[in-house]
Amino acid sequence: MLSQIATPDACISCGACCANFRVSFYWAEAESMPEEMVEPLTAVYSCMKGTNQSQPRCVALQGEVGVNVSCSIYEVRSSSCKEVQIADEQCNKARIKHNMIPLICVESQDSENNENFDQVC
Ligand code: SF4
Ligand code: SF4
Repeated sequence: MLSQIATPDACISCGACCANFRVSFYWAEAESMPEEMVEPLTAVYSCMKGTNQSQPRCVALQGEVGVNVSCSIYEVRSSSCKEVQIADEQCNKARIKHNMIPLICVESQDSENNENFDQVC
């Protein structure tokens, strides 16, 4: 399959993973998030509003997927958000769903945050 080499700022023009999966996490993580952006899922898990539906899109995602996006709660985003890494299986599954070319990493490098997302190779 055709792939594109990942760059550290790939997330800024993507956002597919924020509009593809249910973003759930242990309820206590929500304590630092805006209350109106979170909903209960089970007795011990919560999720980001907008993600527990057939066509998910996290309420905290700003911008247009595949064009220019940012996370409005970047500093307090959940552990689930941080788990997705550029070019990993979840990333590319989401990108394909949104008609974007899958990414590959050509070399590993130390994590390096950018302004909006921290998913780097
Ligand atoms: S981790 Fe992958 S799917 Fe998520 S925003 Fe970054 S490039 Fe897109
Ligand atoms: S909280 Fe931010 S990083 Fe997490 S899914 Fe929503 S927009 Fe994406």
